[in-house]
Amino acid sequence: MTQQLAHISVQHLKGVGAALADKLAKLGLTNLQDMLFHLPRDYEDRSHISPICSAHTGATLLFEGEVLDMTVAQGKRQSLAVRFGDGTGVITLRFYHFYPQQKEHFKRGTRMRVFGEIRLGTSGMEIYHPEYKAIKGDEPLPDANLTAIYPNTEGLTQVRLRQLVNEALSLANSQSLPELMPAYASSRYSLLQALHTVHNPPNNSNRELLLMRAHPAQQRLAFEELTAHQISLAQRRQHIQALQAPVFKVESPLAQQLLAKLPFALTNAQRRVWSEIARDLTHNKPMLRLVQGDVGAGKTVVAALAACHAVAADWQVGLMAPTEILAEQHFVSFGHWFNDLNLPVAWLSGKQGTKERTASLAKIASGEAKIIVGTHALFQDSVQFARLGLVIIDEQHRFGVDQRLALRQKGEQWGMCPHQLIMTATPIPRTLAMSAYGDLDTSVIDELPPNRTPVTTVALSNARRAEVIERVRANCQTGKQAYWVCTLIEESELLEAQAAEAIYEELQKELPELRLGLVHGKLKSNDKQVIMKSFKLGELDLLVATTVIEVGVDVPNSSLMIIENAERLGLAQLHQLRGRVGRGSTVSYCVLMYQPPLSQMGQERLAIMRATTDGFIIAEKDLEIRGPGEVLGTKQTGMVEFKVADLQRDQQLLKTAHQLAKTLQKEQPQQAHALVLRWLPNAPKYVAV
Ligand code: ADP
Ligand code: MG
Repeated sequence: MTQQLAHISVQHLKGVGAALADKLAKLGLTNLQDMLFHLPRDYEDRSHISPICSAHTGATLLFEGEVLDMTVAQGKRQSLAVRFGDGTGVITLRFYHFYPQQKEHFKRGTRMRVFGEIRLGTSGMEIYHPEYKAIKGDEPLPDANLTAIYPNTEGLTQVRLRQLVNEALSLANSQSLPELMPAYASSRYSLLQALHTVHNPPNNSNRELLLMRAHPAQQRLAFEELTAHQISLAQRRQHIQALQAPVFKVESPLAQQLLAKLPFALTNAQRRVWSEIARDLTHNKPMLRLVQGDVGAGKTVVAALAACHAVAADWQVGLMAPTEILAEQHFVSFGHWFNDLNLPVAWLSGKQGTKERTASLAKIASGEAKIIVGTHALFQDSVQFARLGLVIIDEQHRFGVDQRLALRQKGEQWGMCPHQLIMTATPIPRTLAMSAYGDLDTSVIDELPPNRTPVTTVALSNARRAEVIERVRANCQTGKQAYWVCTLIEESELLEAQAAEAIYEELQKELPELRLGLVHGKLKSNDKQVIMKSFKLGELDLLVATTVIEVGVDVPNSSLMIIENAERLGLAQLHQLRGRVGRGSTVSYCVLMYQPPLSQMGQERLAIMRATTDGFIIAEKDLEIRGPGEVLGTKQTGMVEFKVADLQRDQQLLKTAHQLAKTLQKEQPQQAHALVLRWLPNAPKYVAV
């Protein structure tokens, strides 16, 4: 076969029609190259026969014995039940789907080997749908002692998937899947050898090593993947750097005026980051800078200072935030700072009324509006900027790459690319930042404003709810404010809103002397704004909220945060929520409520939250527990999802991959491009924007 595997549909494989192709597509497998790159998530060991007496639930084992009897059980669902014994014990093989002739396989006394995962069923230890094979005499165990287990989908068996992968493997050769890595990287394993090894590990391979993805064949693949990724990041950067950007002055009297208005002095870290930004803005190349700063580090004012440089040069600034509440908060802060300086701030949101929206759009198009704050609405087609010179995106990890690019593109219509400033409170560990945002420069606000008292965190079981309510009462009676955050695991704004309403009613009964407010995602924008405003003004004591308040909300007088179902939230989210308190100079508390018994992961998370308030440590732990895709929220955005590589584990490969990427791009650009296509088929879309 000489045609490239990437160009051959899975339907080319034996017995794959439209229906099976659809199932494969659910796994992201559309062509034969995809099949080869669908790597095992686990390996089963079939080199060893276990006695049935050693069976325990959850284990996947191979047994050898004989059929004792067979019945068709008529429970809720009909099933075929085969009792199977080996002299040490008896186990039931159960089939919910079976065809009539299948019964013939289980004649009493038939010797066979059966393999599968043991569960607790109606008759005790059972294996549902085991793999089974009749044997005569002393048949040797299968050659490959480790069998690949793949990420799978409903209606597809491991056996079938394995067949398909192996058929694709048999079609792979140096023409259909060319080697793209230089000789030194492929001397021990060529790409093909590495793939063969990973799908069908040779006898006596080390399962532990394979599971850690630390086998040299896997490392070979990881290295290639990281190299491809580095090339694509460099391509993106090159593309952007080839564009022109407006040039702003480094000195800004407007910024000085703003500084004079602030009730505080900037921290050294804020000053440093501001000057890094200001320097970028004096170049005619688009700035691409990520500002990281823990929650409460004071990123907003730095963004406002950056805006001054653009506005002074008569360019527009767009500030985009991921949630309505956060965007509104910025709108209020920016309004507070800029309205006095005679620079009205415009507002744009999906939820605003048509009339208001039309008025905003007109001001944006005419250039009358210099600073525009809003949500995703900012990059919709109907929004025409007169002269967009700086794009500021808050809490970047909530936006997809596509959204970020769409907004930048708005500025590109005059052959000019706006500068871009991205702010995130998700402290991203260095290695991850380098790889995920390789196309960005990074500044860190690594200092909190003075007089902040670290938040004390406790974890309490739901059984102690009454105590928690008393605590809220006591806190609010001293004139301080509190948050009560209701969380649900379901991804439904509606259910979450309902739960919050129920808790709000309960708390109103329990705490009649307090003034309560409720915000959730189902409220109208205006209503939300009114409640947030009165909480900010101290007219409410307790704010019952869903996680809509997760990012950015800033009310320094709140000193107590209650988080329900804390064990279900990720570390990053808990850290964000907790960051809503401890913003003033009073001692603050965070109560994490949970439902016992806690899972291992739940325990670990709550322990970390109690132990530290340092966002960087929390992010490192988060990375360990959950893996980089989730930390960056890239599961949704498709920015970094690695097949083999792991940024944490493969750090030592990253540097070499970075070097190789540079060399390849310079000396063999075609090959470099092919690598990107192979590993990141969606990447060129980004490069093209
Ligand atoms: P974040 O980095 O989480 O976005 P914000 O910009 O919301 O933080 O700032 C948090 C709070 O700290 C705000 O009330 C802000 O006015 C205040 N703040 C910012 N910088 C300073 C500073 N240098 N000194 C004192 N307070 C500051
Ligand atoms: Mg913020």
